[in-house]
Amino acid sequence: MSFDLTPEQDQLRDAVRALGRRYGHGYFVEKAKAGEHTTELWAEAGQLGYLGVNIPTEYGGGGGGITELAIVCEELAAAGCPLLLLVVSPAIAATVINRHGTEEQRKRHLPGLADGSEKIVFAITEPEAGSNFHRLATVARRDGDDWLLTGRKCYISGVDEAGHVLVVARTEDSSTGKLKPTLFLAPTDAPGLTRSKLDMEILSPENQFLLYLDDVRLPADALVGGSLDAGLPALFAGLNPERITVAAMGAGTGRYAIERATDYTATRKVWGGRTIGSHQGVSHPLAHAAVQVELARLMIQKAATLYDAGRDLEAGVSGNMAKYAAGEAAALAVDTAVQALGGAGMTTEYGVATLLGAVRAGRIAPVSREMILNFVAQHVLGQDKSY
Ligand SMILES: Cc1cc2nc3c(=O)[nH]c(=O)nc-3n(C[C@H](O)[C@H](O)[C@H](O)COP(=O)(O)OP(=O)(O)OC[C@H]3O[C@@H](n4cnc5c(N)ncnc54)[C@H](O)[C@@H]3O)c2cc1C
Repeated sequence: MSFDLTPEQDQLRDAVRALGRRYGHGYFVEKAKAGEHTTELWAEAGQLGYLGVNIPTEYGGGGGGITELAIVCEELAAAGCPLLLLVVSPAIAATVINRHGTEEQRKRHLPGLADGSEKIVFAITEPEAGSNFHRLATVARRDGDDWLLTGRKCYISGVDEAGHVLVVARTEDSSTGKLKPTLFLAPTDAPGLTRSKLDMEILSPENQFLLYLDDVRLPADALVGGSLDAGLPALFAGLNPERITVAAMGAGTGRYAIERATDYTATRKVWGGRTIGSHQGVSHPLAHAAVQVELARLMIQKAATLYDAGRDLEAGVSGNMAKYAAGEAAALAVDTAVQALGGAGMTTEYGVATLLGAVRAGRIAPVSREMILNFVAQHVLGQDKSY
């Protein structure tokens, strides 16, 4: 494993950093407070090719991997613009369609995902099932050549900005009579698909929704991969990219918060000539947070390298560990930065407390810290399941 980025990856990092800094956290907060989206940043990132770095060149992408997409997520977050929809649209949806969609689905959706003109969001979570995906109750049933989807989804991010939603439903396997997960690409304006916005305590330009599916009629070609057997592998295909990119976003957010705080503590003086950063009670917590963020970045790099090498199972372990580590590190870094900034830490101007809700949510979503610990306990430590 190399600790160096390739020259192309280095260039990508510098270019995304420059773009993110041009917009900055002030822009992100302004959009969130106005109830608007970061449309300009998304469009520019798309035009510059950053949203499609992991999409094959024949569909208009950059031909890179999750390593490149993680760089984009981390650098935008490090500039104060942690865009959650990067995790949903290019990471989950593009990977699922590229790896398991039909050729027709790839041609229809990947070019738009690559240039940012199309967003596809992801709907798996349900009110009754929660973390237990075996309890998913959204059902797809055949009606002639069409499918009819019925069910409810919750906390679905970005539905108001997306053209399609990738819905995880269950279909009956005719050979066993059992229900198995299947993925559908549903237009967000499909008749029968309605939504209501959830009030969340997260300052973000991206929103979460309850989705109601009431006999949503979809044509046969909305079924991802065109076959019921494609469902489970397609669902799993999206998980590693999701965990790795959300971890990268957390690491970037941690870097951003520590930078804001250390800029301040290196110059602020309240006891004679010494800076507050010279007091170890201030600098050690920041140094501790920096260590945690750097450790998380190392695990992100490992997970992305394994994933891009096609080593999905090992990437699953590292990706989960990276997500856990980055979620904890980001929450620690933001909280520590707020403390180091004192009263300034709670102002909008210094742009750190504005991230408290987002990093707190990062310990719950898209997979909670407890479910990752369950995964590690069972798959790495060989422990029995309690549930
Ligand atoms: C900001 C945000 C954005 C989101 N975006 C999306 C999205 O775009 N698409 C989507 O499908 N979902 C999305 N989600 C949903 C998210 O994935 C879920 O909230 C998450 O998976 C947890 O499910 P739950 O909220 O139902 O918690 P529950 O399953 O009800 O769990 C509640 C608590 O119990 C713990 N717990 C549950 N079971 C166990 C167990 N066996 N062992 C130990 N602890 C356990 C959990 O870790 C958690 O702390 C989003 C959520 C948030 C907050």
